[in-house]
Amino acid sequence: MNLEKSIALYTKGLKHLVGAVNSPVRAFKSVGGVPLFIDRAGGSKIYDVDGNEYIDFVLSYGPMILGHRNKKVEKAIKKALKKGYTFGATTKNEIRLAKLVCNAFPGMDKVRFVNSGTEAVLSAIRLARAFTGKDKIIKFSGCYHGHSDALLVAAGSGLATLSLPGSAGVPEDAVKNTLIAEYNNLDSVRKHIIRNKDIAAIIIEPIGGNMGVVLPQNNFLKELSELAKENEILLIADEVMTGFRSKFGGAQEILGVEADITCLGKIIGGGFPVGAYGARNEIMEMVAPLGEMYQAGTLSGNPIAMACGIETLKVLKKKDPFKKFEIIAKRLEKILLKEAKENGIDLQVNRFGSMINPFFTSKKVVDFKTAQSSDTKKFKIFFWKMIENGVFLPPSQFEAWFLSTKFSEKDLEKTEKAIAIAMQSLAKI
Ligand SMILES: *Cc1c(COP(=O)(O)O)cnc(C)c1O
Repeated sequence: MNLEKSIALYTKGLKHLVGAVNSPVRAFKSVGGVPLFIDRAGGSKIYDVDGNEYIDFVLSYGPMILGHRNKKVEKAIKKALKKGYTFGATTKNEIRLAKLVCNAFPGMDKVRFVNSGTEAVLSAIRLARAFTGKDKIIKFSGCYHGHSDALLVAAGSGLATLSLPGSAGVPEDAVKNTLIAEYNNLDSVRKHIIRNKDIAAIIIEPIGGNMGVVLPQNNFLKELSELAKENEILLIADEVMTGFRSKFGGAQEILGVEADITCLGKIIGGGFPVGAYGARNEIMEMVAPLGEMYQAGTLSGNPIAMACGIETLKVLKKKDPFKKFEIIAKRLEKILLKEAKENGIDLQVNRFGSMINPFFTSKKVVDFKTAQSSDTKKFKIFFWKMIENGVFLPPSQFEAWFLSTKFSEKDLEKTEKAIAIAMQSLAKI
């Protein structure tokens, strides 16, 4: 296949961009070769600068759940553009998106919009500390909560892809209040609670999405939520990835838990930079200007981003594609397992709503450790075979594949064929 122009741009990009990318997950480091340079996208497809067409399972790591350039969304963006780009003052659309979001999450009375998931989570942590007057937080190994100092420990996602234990430049002081527990292991949480009196919050991805897709087993989340309550610790659900993924609203509701603070991002901006954190009144009233927890943003609630977010959520609500996602994900799971089996390859598939992940391992994947038992060399070969056959996947074993409402029967058949070819090529090694 021809990737000449991508290769040329990559070489050029290296001069003034770090690794020719603006986010390390885009760098193709774990799969080798040069990153694809994208020219444009539409519907279920994405096109690189060499004119290759791919069915897009990256979907910008989640936001593009309606596929690219939805007509209604684009119309709303154009309408907003004509009124101006940013005002540094409140607009009606901020109230509309806030209402849409709060109504979709039980226990969320108020929300604050920010510009990214990272910002949402770091603000939520500050809020939990302000509300409880305590300093420590518990996070789970393999969960990613953005790149703020306190949370860049055992953080899955890009760090796992690059095999990094943590980040340079994070002072010990910044992580001394971060305690690490194991996903699906309540005892590992209990141990911290027994030893530490001053825990403000437990933060978790209700469905793990950044060590590959990992589901909470049995009653893990419910018991975690009870444990938090008993000890007057706030539960923060990081739903930046899982929000609006399997229903219109959060994973919490499906899993039967209600967090004290919820973080959002990705889908709620529909492709523009929007993050959010929300909670019941009692907690949110700690935030300035009502309370003493300070958090601000020049471009927060940006009018173009709000318009895009509102229309994305409105279209999503009306389309209600969640049953269809379930059917498509199940079908992909089936073909992945069947082709793996026929070619003698160990494979596990985890999925939730419109997120799905094959792991090249014989172990059931329930936490970071079992996720890391995957054979990433196999993934690397699989990834490039899929690219050659017109399917764009995230360039990492540890990133979820996403589904969009635009996937057609034809797209699925093409994907199934590509999977068969990719698995056959793995059988030969
Ligand atoms: C993507 C993600 C973030 C970070 O969001 P950014 O917009 O990339 O800063 C935080 N938490 C989870 C669970 C995510 O998936």
